Amino acid sequence: MSRVWNFSAGPAALPLEVLQQAQADLLDWNGSGASVMELSHRGKPFMAMAAQAEADLRELLAIPAHYAVLFLQGGATQHFAQIPMNLAAPGDRADYVLTGHWSEKAVSEAGPYVQTRIVASSKEQGYRCLPLVDTAALDPDAAYLHYVANETIHGIEWRQPPPSGHLPLVADMSSNILSAPVDIERHGIVYAGAQKNIGPSGLVVMIIRRDLLAREGRPMANVLRYREQAAADSMLNTPNTWGWYLAGLTFKWILAQGGLAAIEAGNIRKSGLLYQAIDGSGGFYRNPVDPAARSRMNVPFTLHDPALDALFLEQSAAAGLMALKGHKAVGGMRASIYNAVPLAAVEALVAFMAEFARRYG
Ligand code: PMP
Repeated sequence: MSRVWNFSAGPAALPLEVLQQAQADLLDWNGSGASVMELSHRGKPFMAMAAQAEADLRELLAIPAHYAVLFLQGGATQHFAQIPMNLAAPGDRADYVLTGHWSEKAVSEAGPYVQTRIVASSKEQGYRCLPLVDTAALDPDAAYLHYVANETIHGIEWRQPPPSGHLPLVADMSSNILSAPVDIERHGIVYAGAQKNIGPSGLVVMIIRRDLLAREGRPMANVLRYREQAAADSMLNTPNTWGWYLAGLTFKWILAQGGLAAIEAGNIRKSGLLYQAIDGSGGFYRNPVDPAARSRMNVPFTLHDPALDALFLEQSAAAGLMALKGHKAVGGMRASIYNAVPLAAVEALVAFMAEFARRYG
């Protein structure tokens, strides 16, 4: 078996133990004589597994009882649209914070369903810092305030949620959910595509305050209505059973690591090591983000001479360091160091970077 150190932004590295468990379970899950993928979602074994996964997530994030947990499909992008469909009546307005590519996308996908307004933005600063959110500037009648907790491309992360006054705060946590404890009660909705810190793509985990389920939103099919999915335990139609199962394994893995406080400590250590290597390279490598806003999950960096980019990528790949090419929107490199990327991977990357800078600096 040869596995690389995987710095993919998503779909991304999963914990080795989770993959090994899935491999062991693949043909005969739980003594059922069948794969979990081959079983009815209405059957007792699957329902029990699904309920346990929810219970484990509730424990990890200390989710209060007045929040529902949904296991949905469509990716975070679909929920950029589905959230205004559910929370905003025709003609309603909603406030958005802009911090990078994914918050822009959230605004554009919401556009057909709600009147969006930008209340704070760091666009003029090239998305290199977090904007100040002034609660006095919020629309008191907005249906909600939306922000992206971690900008996967720009490498910017909120350490604390922005203030939202009395508006329900909606957070896209696709790329940093379960990387540290979160105050769920500061939020109306927390949602995340699974393919970074949870499991495979094709699954969205949503934590939603139950009073928001009572909103009428706009006319839409039942399958799009969060209230209906909550009433049906996310099984209004066939859920992503494989994704749900893998998410459950990941939740157990995080619990076994010591929960989110332990996970956060590991993420501080890993990201600290990498930022130190960048900042200490004498300008050979650069990360442009305000240190207070630097992401612990996605670390974009450029080389002082872009002519070396191709060589860096070629040699890093040869050294078993995979998927370091940066997003075209910011260029250069990006190392995504989600929960499942071990310290040893970051150590290998930092050692490679130092050697590369020595050779070509
Ligand atoms: N939001 C964030 C923060 C993301 O990183 C991504 C995907 N990289 C998305 C939304 C879109 O997710 P999906 O492709 O699952 O729709």
